[in-house]
Amino acid sequence: MPVTRPQAATDRRAWVLRLGMPCAILSLMAASFTRDVGSSASQPAAAPADLALNSSVKQAMASLAANAGAITEEQIRITQIAAPPFQENARGAYLAKLLADAGLKVQTDDIGNVVGERAGSSTDVVMVTAHLDTVFPADTNVKARHEGTRIYAPGISDNGTGLAALVAVARTMRDAQIRTRHTILFVADVGEEGEGNLRGMRRLADAWRKRLRYVIALDGAASDYVSTAALPSQRVEITITGPGGHSWSDFGTPNAVNAAARGVARFVNTPTPRNPRTSFNVGEIEGGTSINSIPDKAVIKVDLRSESDAEIAKLAAALNAAIAAGVDEEMAWAQKRGMTGAGALSISSKVMGVRPSGALADGSPLLAAVRAADEALGNRSRLERSSTDANIPLSLGIPAVAMGAGGRSGGAHSLGEWYDPTGRALGLQRVLLTVVGVAGLDTAPDR
Ligand SMILES: [Zn+2]
Repeated sequence: MPVTRPQAATDRRAWVLRLGMPCAILSLMAASFTRDVGSSASQPAAAPADLALNSSVKQAMASLAANAGAITEEQIRITQIAAPPFQENARGAYLAKLLADAGLKVQTDDIGNVVGERAGSSTDVVMVTAHLDTVFPADTNVKARHEGTRIYAPGISDNGTGLAALVAVARTMRDAQIRTRHTILFVADVGEEGEGNLRGMRRLADAWRKRLRYVIALDGAASDYVSTAALPSQRVEITITGPGGHSWSDFGTPNAVNAAARGVARFVNTPTPRNPRTSFNVGEIEGGTSINSIPDKAVIKVDLRSESDAEIAKLAAALNAAIAAGVDEEMAWAQKRGMTGAGALSISSKVMGVRPSGALADGSPLLAAVRAADEALGNRSRLERSSTDANIPLSLGIPAVAMGAGGRSGGAHSLGEWYDPTGRALGLQRVLLTVVGVAGLDTAPDR
């Protein structure tokens, strides 16, 4: 697969869209943001030299490299436990066991977030998360298949990679007896994808708000980017209802699916700016009950994203106007055939989810920790903007990043999704150094 050349971390202009994105659809980093988060945070990141020279950290780094194969095996076991949206419990229970085995104090909250606590010398919290859920329905075949260096399975990378890294880093820190100043929470959270609407992270941010200093969301593969800005989005569901009828005897009766098709055809011609980058996706259309029945219902689900909240608002207005025009056109057609007496079409529209915007400040210690990790590893990474669990803390003013956990991937959110663990050790080490860097190494003598 084509892999883009990594950009220098300081280069904020040259951007290349990678294949193998996690659920996040990444886009250009705009020059300015609505909100800058975290520049005033007090803890400096450890200098790379300090971390790299620490014998416990060195041991942990070596152990991640030595165990890369076993980590991939664990990733496959995790992936093969289906975790459709709102049905993350089985996978969550397995992660609870793995995190407990890694020496953490584990609790599962009432919506299914699995929280493993590793106490530091302070009560301040660094939260490391990986989402449990996938986009795939329960009947999807999630059995992994090897082909060359690639492993194919829906969800193998997004977010098998993040979950495997979460466990591996926790376990390695225990084995290497790394002590940190901040308390670290290793969290497998629910509801990141689709209609989950970040509900897991919303709950976590709420529950830990007072102590939460930093959030690091591990999402998918790759080591060549760090996402420091939240891409806002809005998800809209529009339902058209009508009288329905027989395809032959009632022909001319207003048809809910026809109206949806007319409306969608109008909407998809809506122009979108390149800058601020803006996108829409008509992701689902459902309706009708049989081929020879006039549908009494059609449901359209649309995802709207932009670097600008104003563009999202414009798109939402365009969508509603287009569907309304589609319904009017269908009603006019029915009128021409003298069939409006059968009943009219009606529209209802609801916002299914909103992902808020926000951005990490250039001077944040969290970004410094990522850059220090990159420097220590000789890695180069670029800044990106994405829609992930990090949106929530960023929108609340809590410094957060999303990053991949190493290796390569492709086909995210498709049945052809694959993961290639080649080079995964680098990604795992990068995560470890970032977590320890921002949590602060506690080098005080034994208490
Ligand atoms: Zn993801």
